[in-house]
Amino acid sequence: SHVADLIAAGEVVERPGSVVKELLDNAIDAGASAVTVEIRSGGMSYIRVSDNGCGIPSEDVETAFLRHATSKIRDESDLAAIGTLGFRGEALAAVAAVSRVELLTCSSEEEMGTALSLEAGVPGEREPAGCPRGTTLVVRNLFYNTPARLKFMKKDSAEAANVAAVVQNAALSHPEVSFKFIRDGKEEMLTPGDGKLLSAIYGALGREFALGLMEVSSSGADARVWGYVTKPLSGHGTRGYQHFFVNGRYVKSRLMTAALEEAYKNRAMTGKFPGCVLHLRLHPGAVDVNVHPAKTEVKFLSERRVFDAVYYAVLSALEGELS
Ligand code: ADP
Ligand code: MG
Repeated sequence: SHVADLIAAGEVVERPGSVVKELLDNAIDAGASAVTVEIRSGGMSYIRVSDNGCGIPSEDVETAFLRHATSKIRDESDLAAIGTLGFRGEALAAVAAVSRVELLTCSSEEEMGTALSLEAGVPGEREPAGCPRGTTLVVRNLFYNTPARLKFMKKDSAEAANVAAVVQNAALSHPEVSFKFIRDGKEEMLTPGDGKLLSAIYGALGREFALGLMEVSSSGADARVWGYVTKPLSGHGTRGYQHFFVNGRYVKSRLMTAALEEAYKNRAMTGKFPGCVLHLRLHPGAVDVNVHPAKTEVKFLSERRVFDAVYYAVLSALEGELS
């Protein structure tokens, strides 16, 4: 029902950044190697996400916007070991329910692309359209039909900063994909998509941050940890430079922060906070990603193992640097 759609939408789509996150997940799931995100007025008036992924076949474009329509899960065993980022089939329905959407897509098997517009989730006529392989979604006037939600939005600059962080995190979790971010007509970020994490860090977080880093790499039976951390005896005024990823997803984790900072203690701390871009790879069963779609928390089966994996990985990198 319409009301059920709006309630569900509120859970997935909290702000422009959550729209961008969902659309980026879809682009990555579609196998894109290049993705462009453009926003105007913090994403409230305009969001565009274009990818060169597999596209959506013409006959499926309306279905993609139905709630619980997903092409990614067929049975419960798929759910147990989620390999793709999206899996609930909720995102497009939720975004479309609270905005005006234009879809332009062309799948690999088709010569002609398809255009579809939706108003508050109601699709218009599907039309053939010329376009390159891939998908473009334009989202206008977010929350125009849910004034109560509109009131909770922060200033455009704060929403834009949140969108930028979402794009950064996508770039840092997918160095093999080139990400471009355009804000109010100005290109603010570009990563090369050459597969190297350090290149993605340069592009997403800047040269100065990248130059202050050293490499971390370790693998054990339970976990693999890799990425970059602040060199010893340097650091940042806030924890805002700590970026953690678990199985390719950006997460906020007090546990991982604690493990990182513990490794610096007594050796390399300066009263500042270490920064990092750290990836952790765990067996899919060792981490619960089936939590709330819009949240970035994770649940680990064994916190001890995760702490140790991060702590010892960072420690051995620091000791290598200090010796
Ligand atoms: P989910 O990602 O959970 O499957 P979504 O609502 O995000 O659900 O997307 C619905 C479906 O639309 C996806 O399963 C996929 O088939 C299709 N789709 C969405 N975005 C893209 C895209 N950028 N490229 C190709 N297919 C897409
Ligand atoms: Mg999705």
